[in-house]
Amino acid sequence: MITVEEAENIIFAQVTDYGAEIVPFEHALGCILAENIKADRDLPPFNRVTMDGIAINYEAIKSGISTFRIKGTQAAGDEPVNIDENTECVEIMTGAMLPVTTDTVIRYEDLECRGGLATLVTNNIKRGQNIHYKGIDKKQDEIVSSHGQLITPAIISLVASVGETELRVKKSPRIIILSSGDELVEADQTPTPFQIRMSNNYTMKAVLQQHHIDADLLHLRDDPEAIKKQLKQCLENYDVLLLSGGVSMGKFDYIPKALEELEVNTLFHKVMQRPGKPFWFGKHDKGQLVFAFPGNPVATFMCLHRYFLPWLKASLGLKAEPPLFAVLNNRQSFNFPLKYFLQVKLHYNEYCQLMATPVEGNGSGDFANLADIDAFMELPLEKNEFKKGEVFKVWRFDQRF
Ligand code: AMP
Ligand code: MG
Repeated sequence: MITVEEAENIIFAQVTDYGAEIVPFEHALGCILAENIKADRDLPPFNRVTMDGIAINYEAIKSGISTFRIKGTQAAGDEPVNIDENTECVEIMTGAMLPVTTDTVIRYEDLECRGGLATLVTNNIKRGQNIHYKGIDKKQDEIVSSHGQLITPAIISLVASVGETELRVKKSPRIIILSSGDELVEADQTPTPFQIRMSNNYTMKAVLQQHHIDADLLHLRDDPEAIKKQLKQCLENYDVLLLSGGVSMGKFDYIPKALEELEVNTLFHKVMQRPGKPFWFGKHDKGQLVFAFPGNPVATFMCLHRYFLPWLKASLGLKAEPPLFAVLNNRQSFNFPLKYFLQVKLHYNEYCQLMATPVEGNGSGDFANLADIDAFMELPLEKNEFKKGEVFKVWRFDQRF
């Protein structure tokens, strides 16, 4: 049996680039940019007025002028209205282009406007105030958003402002989520007294949706022939198979054997961890990857976050985030030669330290407990006793990447 770190290394050795595709920018949120986006012109593209008020030439202030004749009004988007003399001003709005004959904007709050005249009610005026200068944010052709960047709402505004309506983004693998087991019925069905409704597959799909990744769903019956046939089709049509269930020691856990018969080579089977010990990982000769998680819902959930998402992020070209650590808030013991993924609730204490309070639940079948926690704390394999106040890595799953 291999360690968590060995499993992680084997999985990371299979990071794969699935290429790029073009998407409309309105659908690109959460995708990873696969090109550099440049400013098509300076940002801002002109000297932009930042206050509603008047535009004047500061030389007027220097020569003691404090009342200005309003020559005209310039709204945002209007052609600039120029003044002919320093005793004149232009009534001007936020977002308008500063006329070249002016260099300073005075806001309405510092003025009294009456009968076509604007009079200063302050003497605190600085040359060049209330102007957002052309090109000060970005110069034309400067990169505003680079290759490998996650497309956030802020990036959407940037690409929109430079007119990039089609974006080249990293393509995600084609993923199918497979559930297995004759005890499972669909969520909208009524189970017999000895069946349950399936849930892992929906959870997995939801986690992927949170990361803007699509996946198809398929359920496998515990029938070796049917399993083999369906897995064969999946291997033909998908890059990644995400399985939950059917990989343990049970009499009806047919999946590893079926996968081997279909030329999916076992890269590992079983990891020194709880939950999730029977985790199986393999690769087809043609490159398709199979993550087969144990069916117990907490195990599936943990493995998806601990192994699959980091692999996916790396495959999409995202830089790994620094690991997150938290302080164990209650002592804990675990007397098995396995790495324990403790279920914890996180909060910040008064010193802004991230605290992890164990919320143990009733083992890896207790998926109701997942609703009460927000992370798994990865406790070191070498130890059995974990003291309150000790700091360990946490995998939080309530967040997006
Ligand atoms: P297995 O790994 O197939 O032995 O399954 C272990 C446990 O997880 C069993 O109690 C299964 O009923 C349960 N299980 C497996 N797949 C799912 C699923 N998709 N949704 C909910 N529970 C599941
Ligand atoms: Mg099963």
